[in-house]
Amino acid sequence: MTQSWLGIDIGGTSTRFQIMDSDRQWQGFHKIATSSWATTDDALSALARLIQDAVKQQDIHGVMLGLPGILSRDRSQVLSLPFIQALDHQPIAQLLSEKIGIPVAMDKDVNHLMLWDLMQMAQLPDNAVGIYPGTGLGNSLWLNGQFYHGQHGSSGELGHIPLVYAASPEQPLPCPCGNLGCVETVTSGHWLSSWARRMAPETAISALFSQHQAHPDLQAFVRRLAQVIAIEMNILDPQYLILGGGVLGMADFPLSQLHQQIIQYLRPPATRNELQIIFSNATDYTGCRGACYAAERHFRRAL
Ligand SMILES: [Zn+2]
Repeated sequence: MTQSWLGIDIGGTSTRFQIMDSDRQWQGFHKIATSSWATTDDALSALARLIQDAVKQQDIHGVMLGLPGILSRDRSQVLSLPFIQALDHQPIAQLLSEKIGIPVAMDKDVNHLMLWDLMQMAQLPDNAVGIYPGTGLGNSLWLNGQFYHGQHGSSGELGHIPLVYAASPEQPLPCPCGNLGCVETVTSGHWLSSWARRMAPETAISALFSQHQAHPDLQAFVRRLAQVIAIEMNILDPQYLILGGGVLGMADFPLSQLHQQIIQYLRPPATRNELQIIFSNATDYTGCRGACYAAERHFRRAL
């Protein structure tokens, strides 16, 4: 029997839809502004209508949502979704499923980026870590052949280790999580845009590394990123490190320098010699296609 899955990647800016059938053929990609439904009075019903529009010509067997926040360990409850407050603190998958009459599941969006990257490999590895510096510092843990969620659903919060001394020892920066001096405040796109506003207001953010790569502040930024990545590698010692995200995708970002510095900080001999580092080729489709793969894995198992 042919089965089809709908993957939805809900980001702070855009919401992307993609359908995949059981032959892994892609159909129906489209994206809309998240604000177009998330800021309405009844955001959940607005999202349900969009899903019904997306699936109306199809027999869809399951919907997988990717969300930029923290979910409960059993993936049933949204625990913290600061960028889309209309969906925060709710059992979104269950509520949507009741509205549309199709099974719905959900996971962190970064796990879908990671699953996309894992599916590009000849076979799924036992252990891999994904780090995706974007607006924040996305982190996905694939341990012993499955995603690791943590006891409370909050694993992989690498951006929130308290390295206050990393960039501004006198003045730790406030983090969106509520703490002060989280590493994400000095290793993310958010830090880059604030640096650009102060130091290079005439430069488009997309050209920051093209024009200012040699600036000591940006050199220090790359080194901090390498140190933070190496911290997690030295704790987990995975087979693969997958690196992606909007910051690394910026024009002329010094990828080989980052690569060399990560290796420099890895614990010798085994992790330094053996860790395989892969740079992701993310596209506009990656998150929602990864969500389709996740739907296939989740709902096939549930059938
Ligand atoms: Zn934080």
